[in-house]
Parts: sequence; structure tokens; C-alpha cells
Amino acid sequence: MGQIYHIGNCPVCGNYGRMEILFDTSSSKCFVMCEECDLEFTSISDYQRLNVRRMYFNPNEEITSIRSATLDEIMGTEWYPFIADKF
Ligand SMILES: [Zn+2]
Repeated sequence: MGQIYHIGNCPVCGNYGRMEILFDTSSSKCFVMCEECDLEFTSISDYQRLNVRRMYFNPNEEITSIRSATLDEIMGTEWYPFIADKF
């Protein structure tokens, strides 16, 4: 549990999905992913240029390194000024 931070709505889903800020503990980097369609951006410039990175998980591989980012983790990154709302 805990708060979810997002930077606004998905450019593909529109009002349907939000771009949630996630944290990858293996690379110690924040990125955003749409909670509905899994559209993913690794940087603000990618987000603004709609330069999409898709992540395809290996179903046999358990992804334990990715979780919702905390405010502390977001604070030092370029995502911080873009936080739209807190849930
Ligand atoms: Zn979406």
C-alpha cells in the first residue's frame, strides 16, 4: 500500500488511464507507466515527444524490482515537478 503518484493522463487512453510513477529498484530509476495500457516512458523528454518504450515481461520471470515510487524517490528526479496528484 501507500500513495501512488502520477503525472497526468495517458496520451493514448486519454482520461481513462493515468501515468503512474514507478521505481525500478534494480536500476534505481523512476519511470512512468500507464496503469491501463502499460504505455511506458523512461524520461520527461520521451513523454513529451511520445517516444514510447514498451516493456515486455517474460511471463516465466517474476518482476520484483518494480513498484510504485515513493515521494522521496521521485523528489530528486525530473518527474517531480510533473506530479499531478496524489492518491
Ligand atoms: Zn494508457
